[in-house]
Amino acid sequence: MTAPALKPAGAAAPRPIEPDAPLFDPKAFRLTDEQAAIMTRARHLGQTVFAGRAAAYDRDARFPVENYKDLHQAGLLGIAIPKDLGGLGANYQTYALTAAEIGRYCGATALTWNMHVCSTLWSGPLADDLEMDATTRAEHARRRAIHYKRIVDDGAIYSQPFSEGGAAAAGGVAFGTEAKPVKGGWLVNGKKIFASLSGHADYYGVLCTEIAEGEKASRRNTLYLAVPAKSEGVSVVGDWDPLGMRGTVSRTLIFKDVFVPEDDALMPRGVYFKAASSWPHMFLTLSPTYIGLAQAAYDFTVRYLRGEMPGTPPVKRRMYPTKQIAVAQMHVKLEQTKAIWFQAVTEACANPTKAQVLRAYAAQFSAMEGANEIATLAIRTCGGQAMLKSLPLERIYRDSRCGSLMLPWTAELCLDRIGREALYEPGESDE
Ligand SMILES: Cc1cc2nc3c(=O)[nH]c(=O)nc-3n(C[C@H](O)[C@H](O)[C@H](O)COP(=O)(O)OP(=O)(O)OC[C@H]3O[C@@H](n4cnc5c(N)ncnc54)[C@H](O)[C@@H]3O)c2cc1C
Repeated sequence: MTAPALKPAGAAAPRPIEPDAPLFDPKAFRLTDEQAAIMTRARHLGQTVFAGRAAAYDRDARFPVENYKDLHQAGLLGIAIPKDLGGLGANYQTYALTAAEIGRYCGATALTWNMHVCSTLWSGPLADDLEMDATTRAEHARRRAIHYKRIVDDGAIYSQPFSEGGAAAAGGVAFGTEAKPVKGGWLVNGKKIFASLSGHADYYGVLCTEIAEGEKASRRNTLYLAVPAKSEGVSVVGDWDPLGMRGTVSRTLIFKDVFVPEDDALMPRGVYFKAASSWPHMFLTLSPTYIGLAQAAYDFTVRYLRGEMPGTPPVKRRMYPTKQIAVAQMHVKLEQTKAIWFQAVTEACANPTKAQVLRAYAAQFSAMEGANEIATLAIRTCGGQAMLKSLPLERIYRDSRCGSLMLPWTAELCLDRIGREALYEPGESDE
């Protein structure tokens, strides 16, 4: 572990509280000491600092700027950056487990941190698994080192806008945002909706289609470009007043003839398409936040029923059999959700088997729907006083409702794919 010692950057002082147990006990889940240390670092930051700030970000639909300063200080902006380039060198599983720890304390921070980390995870460990000729790999290594240096040294924040409001984000057609090749780079034009971190990221990691004059758009020509937020032609429009995940500030981005230099490509030509088809778990990275929220709803319920929830009178409600049954149901649901999710993030790899892909869809569905089911039960079980805005449960409930909506693996699309792929082999039809 080479990252600097933890020291909160913002005004909120650490609160003296009993440390939460890990979401996944390192011994029971056979994690290494290094993984456990990274997870502990995130959990400590989340519990002592992020938890205290979460209500204000939610209330004001304000981006967690202060949390990002802390994430930088703790080395966590560079979690998936190789150690020799100044990062923590985490693999996919370590990242997922760490993100889940943050999700327990501030959903919006965990979800936006996911968009940021994916720019390094996809261009890093994931791209290392994909075929590239030696020249392309060398060029990619040179370029990604530029991005990684900005993150490690300057705390640069990257986002990941790919949704456009059409079929592209679900993987159906080519992205409508276009990159026209010009001398030294591309001219980007298009619009991205629900762009988390808009107005706050330093670079927008835009998925777009490279298309020369007169060419037809093809998904094979998808480019992944880091568009500098301050570039001429970039604007953030629209307001942001949603049900949950309010701190993500997911407004609309407009790109009008934005020049993006070649070195700002996050992946070489053709590599995003390869990644999307041969490394499908890349789309499971939105789920850790919701595993954290599921745990948070359960932990809240246990503390509340035991009369140990800070900010509430020490009234015990645990002696009623109905409460005990509800907690048992929540516990079973939580363990089931965590078990399939742990397996899926542990086996993530290039060219997974059909069974592994179906399990990844099932894990995503279980995390996204399961978090909200557990939060719903938590509210019913704890009762009216527990859903006041002075307590975190109602925010956890609202944030957890958003998981199923995240493309490309929405809850509906996961069911759609599991059903079809379980019943049909590739190329099969009933004609
Ligand atoms: C809090 C929050 C943060 C977000 N942050 C980001 C971000 O940072 N970057 C980003 O790119 N996006 C982000 N999104 C957007 C998200 O991934 C979806 O793109 C968005 O919610 C889709 O909304 P829509 O109304 O356009 O959905 P639609 O495209 O209208 O789809 C509605 C539903 O129909 C279903 N559906 C869609 N396509 C198909 C299909 N081909 N076949 C069958 N069913 C289908 C899906 O279940 C989908 O949920 C965010 C969303 C939320 C709620």
